[in-house]
Amino acid sequence: MSDCFTCPLCGLSPGDRRNHCPECLTGVHPGDGARMTPIAVAVPRDGEWVIVHRCERCGWLASSPARADDNVLILMRMAVRPLASPPFPFEMFGRM
Ligand SMILES: [Zn+2]
Ligand SMILES: [Zn+2]
Repeated sequence: MSDCFTCPLCGLSPGDRRNHCPECLTGVHPGDGARMTPIAVAVPRDGEWVIVHRCERCGWLASSPARADDNVLILMRMAVRPLASPPFPFEMFGRM
């Protein structure tokens, strides 16, 4: 078991300790080793971008700060992605 991250999707190995791929932003769930797909980007008030990942196997949600070398195109695409097809049912929040 290595500390270095290897992307389960594109196989990239940046050679440092991180929890998601800089190229496709895919992560790994430490709990079960399954792939974690980036589903959203949030920009909190302090301005630091946060990537929300969901585990493909167990549905576990986790957020991690975006890094300077992350793929900005994918970040932007997630940030502007229409909410027409959210990855979870919006009804769970009730009506605004
Ligand atoms: Zn990758
Ligand atoms: Zn999992």
